[in-house]
Amino acid sequence: MVKGILLIISGPSGVGKGTVCRYLLQVRKALKLSVSTTTRPPRPDEKEGKEYFFTTPSRFKEMIEAGSFLEWALVHDHFYGTRSESVREMLASGQDLILEIDVQGAEQVRAKIPEAVSIFLAPPSRQALEQRITGRGTEDPGRIKRRLETARREMKAYCYYDYLVVNDRVKKAADKINSIIDAEKCRVKRGARPPGLGGESR
Ligand code: ADP
Ligand code: 5GP
Repeated sequence: MVKGILLIISGPSGVGKGTVCRYLLQVRKALKLSVSTTTRPPRPDEKEGKEYFFTTPSRFKEMIEAGSFLEWALVHDHFYGTRSESVREMLASGQDLILEIDVQGAEQVRAKIPEAVSIFLAPPSRQALEQRITGRGTEDPGRIKRRLETARREMKAYCYYDYLVVNDRVKKAADKINSIIDAEKCRVKRGARPPGLGGESR
């Protein structure tokens, strides 16, 4: 069965995951981004169903108990999770999909779906990460400090990923991820076959 590629893009908060993913989705139109569910309040420019599905902690806990999540994590006091059903349906239909999730969630997905391709996005330096979190202007100083502390721990997880991409420039990082997808599509293990043998090269 031809299946889509499940791409996990993870890394510390503020490294530029959202920015790089948005760029990538523009250059690779066939790619889709999974919309997570969260208990975090929406930021001023965020819309229900676009950036996230926003919900309450009690509803989120009900969904955990119902086994609705492929993965979920408590990140900076808020729950975030990826619903299993939508991911499995999209992959089965051949849709390539990005999960933009934190390192705890990435670990859960790798354990459940070993074919997933995981990419750790790293900042060019600690100072650059601090500037990006501060410059985004969405967090107060206390939250910025906590995100930086968490980032220090999260950086150590890079060695569990298939690929490490440094986000020094958005276009460069997105181009590298685009090349990784191209390479993954040519993997024999993934089911690529020469068209002449009755298979379809993807
Ligand atoms: P994340 O999704 O990882 O939390 P964002 O995509 O929200 O991070 O990016 C955090 C901030 O860093 C944003 O203000 C964004 O514009 C900026 N940013 C992202 N990538 C780069 C980059 N390569 N160089 C400079 N600034 C960047
Ligand atoms: P933010 O609040 O800045 O949108 O996201 C905070 C962190 O939560 C980021 O590291 C982001 O990647 C992560 N995140 C977003 N959605 C999910 C999800 O569905 N699962 C997990 N585990 N993390 C997520």
